[in-house]
Amino acid sequence: MTIIICWIDDEDAHKLDAENLEGKMRQSDKKGKVLFYRPEAFKNIAESGKKIDLFLVDYYLNRSSGMNGQKYQGKGISFIGLLKENYPDTPIYAFSAFPKFETSTNLTYILKKEAEARVDFAEIQLSGHDFLYYDAFDYRTIRKTIRKGIVKLIDLLKPPAIEKEKIEGLLPHILKTTKFMGVKTENIAGRSLDYASWVRNVLLAKPGFLYNKPYSATAVGMSSKAFQERLTEFDSALYNGIFSKSLREELWWKTILFETVNKKAKERAEKDELAKDSLSSDVRRLAEYAFELAENEISMCVVCNGKFPDTMGTEPGSDEMAPVHYRCSDENHEATKALFFDDLRIIKTKGEK
Ligand SMILES: [Zn+2]
Repeated sequence: MTIIICWIDDEDAHKLDAENLEGKMRQSDKKGKVLFYRPEAFKNIAESGKKIDLFLVDYYLNRSSGMNGQKYQGKGISFIGLLKENYPDTPIYAFSAFPKFETSTNLTYILKKEAEARVDFAEIQLSGHDFLYYDAFDYRTIRKTIRKGIVKLIDLLKPPAIEKEKIEGLLPHILKTTKFMGVKTENIAGRSLDYASWVRNVLLAKPGFLYNKPYSATAVGMSSKAFQERLTEFDSALYNGIFSKSLREELWWKTILFETVNKKAKERAEKDELAKDSLSSDVRRLAEYAFELAENEISMCVVCNGKFPDTMGTEPGSDEMAPVHYRCSDENHEATKALFFDDLRIIKTKGEK
Protein backbone atom coordinates (compact mmCIF):
# COMPACT_ATOMS: atom_id res chain seq x y z
CA MET A 1 0.00 0.00 0.00
CA THR A 2 1.61 3.22 -1.19
CA ILE A 3 0.75 6.57 0.35
CA ILE A 4 0.35 9.27 -2.29
CA ILE A 5 1.08 12.86 -1.37
CA CYS A 6 0.26 15.55 -3.90
CA TRP A 7 2.39 18.71 -3.69
CA ILE A 8 0.85 21.75 -5.39
CA ASP A 9 3.15 24.71 -5.81
CA ASP A 10 3.90 27.55 -8.22
CA GLU A 11 7.55 27.56 -7.21
CA ASP A 12 9.30 25.20 -9.61
CA ALA A 13 12.35 25.07 -7.38
CA HIS A 14 10.26 23.21 -4.80
CA LYS A 15 10.05 20.26 -7.15
CA LEU A 16 13.41 19.28 -5.74
CA ASP A 17 12.00 19.45 -2.20
CA ALA A 18 9.16 17.18 -3.26
CA GLU A 19 11.70 14.70 -4.64
CA ASN A 20 13.70 14.92 -1.42
CA LEU A 21 10.57 14.21 0.60
CA GLU A 22 9.89 11.08 -1.43
CA GLY A 23 13.54 10.08 -1.14
CA LYS A 24 13.54 10.41 2.63
CA MET A 25 10.39 8.30 2.88
CA ARG A 26 12.07 5.61 0.82
CA GLN A 27 15.20 5.77 2.98
CA SER A 28 13.12 5.20 6.09
CA ASP A 29 11.34 2.23 4.50
CA LYS A 30 7.99 3.90 3.94
CA LYS A 31 6.07 3.29 0.77
CA GLY A 32 5.28 6.81 -0.30
CA LYS A 33 5.06 8.80 -3.52
CA VAL A 34 5.15 12.57 -3.84
CA LEU A 35 3.60 13.99 -6.99
CA PHE A 36 4.51 17.59 -7.83
CA TYR A 37 2.06 19.75 -9.79
CA ARG A 38 1.86 23.38 -10.70
CA PRO A 39 -1.64 24.64 -9.76
CA GLU A 40 -2.87 25.07 -13.33
CA ALA A 41 -1.68 21.57 -14.19
CA PHE A 42 -3.54 19.95 -11.32
CA LYS A 43 -6.62 22.06 -12.00
CA ASN A 44 -6.91 20.32 -15.34
CA ILE A 45 -7.03 16.88 -13.75
CA ALA A 46 -8.80 17.75 -10.48
CA GLU A 47 -11.97 16.02 -11.62
CA SER A 48 -10.21 12.89 -12.83
CA GLY A 49 -10.52 11.19 -9.44
CA LYS A 50 -6.80 10.50 -9.27
CA LYS A 51 -6.03 8.73 -6.00
CA ILE A 52 -4.44 11.09 -3.48
CA ASP A 53 -3.98 10.54 0.25
CA LEU A 54 -2.91 14.04 1.27
CA PHE A 55 -2.57 17.41 -0.46
CA LEU A 56 0.26 19.74 0.36
CA VAL A 57 -0.72 23.15 -0.99
CA ASP A 58 1.43 26.25 -1.18
CA TYR A 59 -0.71 28.98 0.33
CA TYR A 60 0.67 31.72 -1.92
CA LEU A 61 0.21 30.27 -5.35
CA ASN A 62 0.51 33.46 -7.35
CA ARG A 63 4.06 34.54 -6.67
CA SER A 64 6.24 32.72 -9.13
CA SER A 65 5.97 32.31 -12.87
CA GLY A 66 5.85 28.96 -14.52
CA MET A 67 7.93 27.74 -17.46
CA ASN A 68 5.87 29.86 -19.84
CA GLY A 69 6.43 33.00 -17.76
CA GLN A 70 2.79 33.08 -16.61
CA LYS A 71 1.88 33.49 -12.97
CA TYR A 72 -0.98 31.44 -11.59
CA GLN A 73 -3.92 33.82 -11.16
CA GLY A 74 -5.77 32.22 -8.25
CA LYS A 75 -4.83 32.15 -4.60
CA GLY A 76 -4.13 29.22 -2.35
CA ILE A 77 -7.41 29.55 -0.54
CA SER A 78 -9.52 29.32 -3.72
CA PHE A 79 -7.42 26.40 -4.86
CA ILE A 80 -8.12 24.68 -1.57
CA GLY A 81 -11.82 25.27 -2.26
CA LEU A 82 -11.47 23.56 -5.62
CA LEU A 83 -9.76 20.59 -4.00
CA LYS A 84 -12.41 20.33 -1.29
CA GLU A 85 -15.10 20.10 -3.96
CA ASN A 86 -13.39 17.27 -5.76
CA TYR A 87 -11.74 15.55 -2.81
CA PRO A 88 -14.09 16.04 0.16
CA ASP A 89 -12.37 13.33 2.20
CA THR A 90 -8.74 14.06 1.47
CA PRO A 91 -6.83 16.16 4.02
CA ILE A 92 -5.22 19.39 2.86
CA TYR A 93 -2.10 20.74 4.53
CA ALA A 94 -1.27 24.34 3.67
CA PHE A 95 2.30 25.56 3.81
CA SER A 96 4.44 28.42 2.66
CA ALA A 97 8.12 29.21 2.60
CA PHE A 98 7.34 32.85 3.49
CA PRO A 99 7.98 33.67 7.16
CA LYS A 100 4.85 35.85 7.33
CA PHE A 101 2.80 32.73 6.84
CA GLU A 102 3.68 31.30 10.24
CA THR A 103 2.66 34.32 12.27
CA SER A 104 -0.51 35.60 10.64
CA THR A 105 -3.39 34.97 13.05
CA ASN A 106 -5.92 35.95 10.41
CA LEU A 107 -4.62 33.08 8.36
CA THR A 108 -4.88 30.74 11.32
CA TYR A 109 -8.56 31.48 11.45
CA ILE A 110 -9.16 31.03 7.72
CA LEU A 111 -7.11 27.90 7.46
CA LYS A 112 -8.68 26.30 10.50
CA LYS A 113 -11.89 26.17 8.53
CA GLU A 114 -10.45 25.33 5.16
CA ALA A 115 -7.47 23.08 5.70
CA GLU A 116 -6.66 20.24 8.07
CA ALA A 117 -3.34 21.72 9.05
CA ARG A 118 -0.89 24.51 8.48
CA VAL A 119 2.72 23.41 8.38
CA ASP A 120 6.00 25.19 8.12
CA PHE A 121 8.13 24.62 5.08
CA ALA A 122 11.14 23.91 7.30
CA GLU A 123 9.11 21.27 9.14
CA ILE A 124 8.31 19.52 5.86
CA GLN A 125 11.97 19.44 4.95
CA LEU A 126 12.99 18.21 8.37
CA SER A 127 10.39 15.62 9.30
CA GLY A 128 7.74 15.62 6.57
CA HIS A 129 8.74 12.09 5.57
CA ASP A 130 7.49 11.01 9.02
CA PHE A 131 4.53 13.13 10.00
CA LEU A 132 3.04 13.64 6.52
CA TYR A 133 3.31 9.94 5.82
CA TYR A 134 1.80 8.80 9.13
CA ASP A 135 -0.97 11.39 9.02
CA ALA A 136 -1.87 10.49 5.44
CA PHE A 137 -1.87 6.84 6.48
CA ASP A 138 -4.23 7.50 9.40
CA TYR A 139 -6.59 9.62 7.30
CA ARG A 140 -6.74 6.75 4.85
CA THR A 141 -7.49 4.32 7.68
CA ILE A 142 -10.43 6.50 8.76
CA ARG A 143 -11.76 6.66 5.19
CA LYS A 144 -11.60 2.89 4.99
CA THR A 145 -13.25 2.38 8.38
CA ILE A 146 -16.06 4.92 8.27
CA ARG A 147 -18.51 2.72 6.40
CA LYS A 148 -18.26 0.12 9.15
CA GLY A 149 -19.89 2.49 11.60
CA ILE A 150 -19.08 4.66 14.58
CA VAL A 151 -18.07 1.84 16.93
CA LYS A 152 -15.29 0.81 14.55
CA LEU A 153 -14.21 4.43 14.21
CA ILE A 154 -13.87 4.73 17.97
CA ASP A 155 -11.88 1.51 18.07
CA LEU A 156 -9.22 3.28 15.97
CA LEU A 157 -8.41 5.28 19.10
CA LYS A 158 -7.71 2.06 21.02
CA PRO A 159 -9.50 3.52 24.04
CA PRO A 160 -10.08 1.82 27.39
CA ALA A 161 -13.39 -0.09 27.16
CA ILE A 162 -14.84 2.01 29.94
CA GLU A 163 -14.45 5.23 27.90
CA LYS A 164 -15.98 4.08 24.61
CA GLU A 165 -19.54 5.07 25.35
CA LYS A 166 -18.55 8.49 26.69
CA ILE A 167 -16.46 9.18 23.60
CA GLU A 168 -19.30 8.16 21.32
CA GLY A 169 -21.60 10.56 23.14
CA LEU A 170 -19.22 13.44 22.57
CA LEU A 171 -18.74 12.98 18.83
CA PRO A 172 -19.94 15.83 16.61
CA HIS A 173 -23.65 15.64 15.96
CA ILE A 174 -23.20 15.23 12.21
CA LEU A 175 -21.30 11.99 12.74
CA LYS A 176 -24.00 10.53 14.94
CA THR A 177 -26.82 11.38 12.57
CA THR A 178 -25.19 10.17 9.38
CA LYS A 179 -26.03 6.60 8.56
CA PHE A 180 -22.76 5.09 7.53
CA MET A 181 -23.44 1.46 6.99
CA GLY A 182 -24.66 0.55 3.56
CA VAL A 183 -25.09 4.17 2.59
CA LYS A 184 -23.65 5.54 -0.62
CA THR A 185 -20.46 7.56 -0.60
CA GLU A 186 -21.92 11.00 -1.32
CA ASN A 187 -23.89 10.94 1.92
CA ILE A 188 -20.78 10.52 3.99
CA ALA A 189 -18.56 12.78 1.90
CA GLY A 190 -16.41 14.88 4.21
CA ARG A 191 -17.38 12.94 7.35
CA SER A 192 -14.02 11.21 7.65
CA LEU A 193 -12.40 14.64 7.95
CA ASP A 194 -15.01 15.72 10.52
CA TYR A 195 -14.07 12.73 12.61
CA ALA A 196 -10.33 13.28 12.18
CA SER A 197 -10.69 16.93 13.09
CA TRP A 198 -12.58 16.08 16.29
CA VAL A 199 -9.94 13.54 17.28
CA ARG A 200 -7.05 15.92 16.65
CA ASN A 201 -8.52 19.20 17.84
CA VAL A 202 -10.61 17.98 20.75
CA LEU A 203 -9.78 14.51 22.06
CA LEU A 204 -6.02 14.71 21.62
CA ALA A 205 -5.73 18.44 22.21
CA LYS A 206 -7.72 19.01 25.38
CA PRO A 207 -6.88 17.38 28.70
CA GLY A 208 -9.66 15.13 29.90
CA PHE A 209 -9.52 11.63 28.48
CA LEU A 210 -5.86 11.99 27.68
CA TYR A 211 -3.15 13.80 29.60
CA ASN A 212 0.27 15.02 28.55
CA LYS A 213 3.25 14.40 30.82
CA PRO A 214 2.80 17.28 33.32
CA TYR A 215 -0.92 16.58 33.63
CA SER A 216 -0.34 12.84 34.03
CA ALA A 217 2.29 13.37 36.72
CA THR A 218 0.03 15.74 38.66
CA ALA A 219 -2.95 13.41 38.34
CA VAL A 220 -1.03 10.62 40.05
CA GLY A 221 0.52 12.94 42.66
CA MET A 222 4.05 12.89 41.31
CA SER A 223 6.54 15.55 40.36
CA SER A 224 7.37 15.51 36.65
CA LYS A 225 10.75 14.02 37.49
CA ALA A 226 9.27 11.23 39.61
CA PHE A 227 6.79 10.40 36.85
CA GLN A 228 9.53 10.48 34.22
CA GLU A 229 11.54 7.97 36.28
CA ARG A 230 8.58 5.60 36.45
CA LEU A 231 7.40 5.98 32.84
CA THR A 232 7.63 2.28 32.01
CA GLU A 233 5.17 1.49 34.81
CA PHE A 234 2.59 3.47 32.85
CA ASP A 235 3.28 2.00 29.41
CA SER A 236 -0.17 0.46 29.13
CA ALA A 237 -1.73 3.91 29.49
CA LEU A 238 0.22 5.41 26.60
CA TYR A 239 -1.94 6.60 23.70
CA ASN A 240 -1.16 4.62 20.56
CA GLY A 241 -4.29 5.08 18.47
CA ILE A 242 -4.65 7.04 15.22
CA PHE A 243 -2.52 10.17 14.88
CA SER A 244 -0.30 9.06 17.77
CA LYS A 245 2.76 8.90 15.53
CA SER A 246 2.69 12.59 14.68
CA LEU A 247 1.82 13.93 18.12
CA ARG A 248 4.08 16.69 19.43
CA GLU A 249 4.04 15.16 22.89
CA GLU A 250 3.11 11.77 24.30
CA LEU A 251 -0.31 11.31 25.88
CA TRP A 252 -1.67 8.87 28.48
CA TRP A 253 -5.25 7.67 29.08
CA LYS A 254 -6.28 9.05 32.45
CA THR A 255 -8.36 6.05 33.46
CA ILE A 256 -5.51 3.63 32.76
CA LEU A 257 -3.09 5.81 34.76
CA PHE A 258 -5.47 5.50 37.70
CA GLU A 259 -5.97 1.77 37.14
CA THR A 260 -2.21 1.28 37.14
CA VAL A 261 -1.86 3.07 40.48
CA ASN A 262 -4.75 1.10 41.98
CA LYS A 263 -3.34 -2.21 40.87
CA LYS A 264 0.12 -1.43 42.17
CA ALA A 265 -1.26 -0.24 45.54
CA LYS A 266 -3.32 -3.42 45.93
CA GLU A 267 -0.29 -5.58 45.17
CA ARG A 268 1.75 -3.73 47.74
CA ALA A 269 -1.03 -3.90 50.32
CA GLU A 270 -1.12 -7.67 49.89
CA LYS A 271 2.61 -7.89 50.52
CA ASP A 272 2.32 -5.60 53.51
CA GLU A 273 -0.66 -7.65 54.73
CA LEU A 274 -2.63 -4.46 54.87
CA ALA A 275 -6.43 -4.52 54.71
CA LYS A 276 -7.55 -3.25 51.30
CA ASP A 277 -10.13 -0.94 52.83
CA SER A 278 -7.41 0.85 54.73
CA LEU A 279 -6.08 2.21 51.44
CA SER A 280 -6.82 5.82 50.54
CA SER A 281 -9.52 6.51 48.01
CA ASP A 282 -7.44 9.41 46.67
CA VAL A 283 -5.39 8.12 43.75
CA ARG A 284 -2.54 10.54 44.53
CA ARG A 285 -2.13 9.21 48.07
CA LEU A 286 -2.39 5.70 46.71
CA ALA A 287 0.44 6.47 44.31
CA GLU A 288 2.55 7.80 47.16
CA TYR A 289 2.12 4.45 48.91
CA ALA A 290 2.30 2.22 45.83
CA PHE A 291 5.41 3.82 44.33
CA GLU A 292 7.04 4.61 47.67
CA LEU A 293 7.41 8.26 46.75
CA ALA A 294 9.91 10.30 48.69
CA GLU A 295 8.75 13.67 50.01
CA ASN A 296 10.45 15.53 47.18
CA GLU A 297 8.90 13.23 44.56
CA ILE A 298 5.37 14.25 45.43
CA SER A 299 3.71 16.86 43.23
CA MET A 300 3.72 20.36 44.66
CA CYS A 301 1.37 23.29 44.20
CA VAL A 302 2.99 26.29 42.56
CA VAL A 303 1.10 28.72 44.83
CA CYS A 304 1.17 27.28 48.38
CA ASN A 305 3.96 24.70 47.96
CA GLY A 306 1.51 22.20 49.47
CA LYS A 307 1.30 18.54 48.44
CA PHE A 308 -1.01 17.04 45.83
CA PRO A 309 -2.23 19.90 43.62
CA ASP A 310 -5.49 18.95 41.90
CA THR A 311 -4.82 20.03 38.36
CA MET A 312 -2.80 22.26 36.06
CA GLY A 313 -3.32 25.97 35.63
CA THR A 314 -1.81 28.90 33.80
CA GLU A 315 -0.40 32.13 35.17
CA PRO A 316 -2.63 35.04 34.13
CA GLY A 317 -1.59 36.26 30.71
CA SER A 318 0.76 33.37 30.10
CA ASP A 319 0.61 29.96 28.48
CA GLU A 320 3.01 28.47 30.97
CA MET A 321 1.33 25.68 32.93
CA ALA A 322 2.00 24.54 36.48
CA PRO A 323 0.42 22.17 39.04
CA VAL A 324 -2.05 23.93 41.31
CA HIS A 325 -4.77 23.21 43.88
CA TYR A 326 -8.37 24.07 43.09
CA ARG A 327 -8.30 26.35 46.13
CA CYS A 328 -5.16 28.06 44.83
CA SER A 329 -6.62 28.81 41.39
CA ASP A 330 -9.68 30.39 39.82
CA GLU A 331 -12.02 29.38 37.09
CA ASN A 332 -11.12 30.66 33.68
CA HIS A 333 -14.29 32.31 32.48
CA GLU A 334 -12.98 32.73 28.96
CA ALA A 335 -12.42 29.02 28.47
CA THR A 336 -15.48 27.06 27.43
CA LYS A 337 -16.42 24.21 29.66
CA ALA A 338 -16.78 20.87 27.96
CA LEU A 339 -18.30 17.74 29.43
CA PHE A 340 -15.66 15.22 30.59
CA PHE A 341 -12.80 17.60 29.81
CA ASP A 342 -10.76 19.41 32.44
CA ASP A 343 -11.31 23.10 33.08
CA LEU A 344 -8.34 25.31 32.50
CA ARG A 345 -7.61 27.02 35.83
CA ILE A 346 -6.00 30.42 36.38
CA ILE A 347 -3.28 30.37 39.02
CA LYS A 348 -3.79 32.79 41.90
CA THR A 349 -0.89 35.02 42.83
CA LYS A 350 0.77 34.06 46.11
CA GLY A 351 -0.96 35.41 49.19
CA GLU A 352 -4.22 35.94 47.30
CA LYS A 353 -6.04 32.96 48.84
ZN1 LIG B 1 -1.99 25.18 46.68
